[in-house]
Amino acid sequence: MAKQIQAIRGMNDCLPEQTPAWQQAETVLRQLMASYGYSEVRMPVMENTGLFRRAIGEVTDVVEKEMYSFDDRNGDSMTLRPEGTAGCVRAGIQHGLLYNQERRMWYMGPMFRYERPQKGRYRQFHQFGVEVFGLQGPDIDAELIMLTARLWKQLGVSEHLVLQLNSLGQPEERAEYRQALVTYLEQYYEQLDADSQRRLHTNPLRVLDSKNPQVQALLQDAPILSDYFGEATQAHFANLTALLTAAGIAFEINPRLVRGLDYYNLTVFEWVTESLGAQGTVCGGGRYDGLVEQLGGQATPAVGFAMGMERLVLLLETLEKVNTQPALADVYIAMMGESTQVAGFALAEQLRDHIPSLSVMSHCGGGNFKKQLKRADKSGASMALILGEDEVARGEVTIKYLRGQGEQQTLTVNDIIEQLKGDLSGL
Ligand code: ATP
Ligand code: MG
Repeated sequence: MAKQIQAIRGMNDCLPEQTPAWQQAETVLRQLMASYGYSEVRMPVMENTGLFRRAIGEVTDVVEKEMYSFDDRNGDSMTLRPEGTAGCVRAGIQHGLLYNQERRMWYMGPMFRYERPQKGRYRQFHQFGVEVFGLQGPDIDAELIMLTARLWKQLGVSEHLVLQLNSLGQPEERAEYRQALVTYLEQYYEQLDADSQRRLHTNPLRVLDSKNPQVQALLQDAPILSDYFGEATQAHFANLTALLTAAGIAFEINPRLVRGLDYYNLTVFEWVTESLGAQGTVCGGGRYDGLVEQLGGQATPAVGFAMGMERLVLLLETLEKVNTQPALADVYIAMMGESTQVAGFALAEQLRDHIPSLSVMSHCGGGNFKKQLKRADKSGASMALILGEDEVARGEVTIKYLRGQGEQQTLTVNDIIEQLKGDLSGL
């Protein structure tokens, strides 16, 4: 036998057993977006590498070590998108969607990062993301958080998610703080781990985010970012927390929450769960007022978030919130004898014409009565419609109920359609 070819490590198939959970989440998300008046946008999965370098920042984990980049046949550097914001902003500028306008958009699709695969962390993963342009907040920041809170409620997972909130201030405020933080940490340089030592001069705020307990201990007495905030930043954050409180949304202020991408200012937030182990951040986002201009557009305030779909689906599975899988079909058509095939397919199409919501599965592959009924049972259908040569000759069909709902009976095709229309509510 020829050697099997396996999928690329960290890139998963989503098998038929798993798609119902995904579809459940996707359906709820689509309805939710419509209910808030947001529009869907779709971007390519590949962009020029320069876009991500410029948008995400040279000294972020994503750009330093996680991007799938390669030269195409023309020698241009391409990158499989590691996130959606950069492409969304690029599209918005390119098509003139952002200038002097207000836009509320969402997207869903695959993202690619070269990371060590583990539970909740993959090399191809999927994000649902929202980006809003032209609004300064904090009202819209609050709306984004409210709509995520509604999502958790609709999916039945609210009790397992905690909202962490912080403000990163404005770039000038952060620059001043950055200086103070570097001066403080330099005293303990030798005690920092290699990652933090490296970040101390490239991206010192990321040290705050270190998972290393020794580094966290050193940070106990470090300067605090919010001490560097001016009035406007303080008011923005206070208004946001007031809106959330009024909406009944609980939050924890986490002064160490900095997020991994460079483009954020003011509001940042994450929804975190303890139910998934180490990869507990299901959703994260924030304000990025500088990004549109940085990518060549007119200065435009913006805020957004992205949610890891794999983590969301894992959470639904872990908490047993996935709806039971529906049957593959409502009705299974069994055909006894080759001469009944034409009539069988015609019946299936007729049923689909008259009752579009009915799921009809036609038996294929021949076989005797017993085999066909076994298949019918396996499909989960509540009834088999049986066409024998006698039935076909008389224009009739036999109904056999598979879940003990009634006696077998033989009816004309028209009567069957009428009966199924009536039955449908009870299926
Ligand atoms: P993490 O700290 O888990 O690495 P991040 O800060 O890199 O997350 P973002 O870039 O903000 O994540 O992406 C938003 C969300 O996308 C994350 O909160 C997570 O749910 C999901 N996500 C990010 N990277 C991966 C991945 N490699 N596999 C699966 N989901 C991911
Ligand atoms: Mg990451």
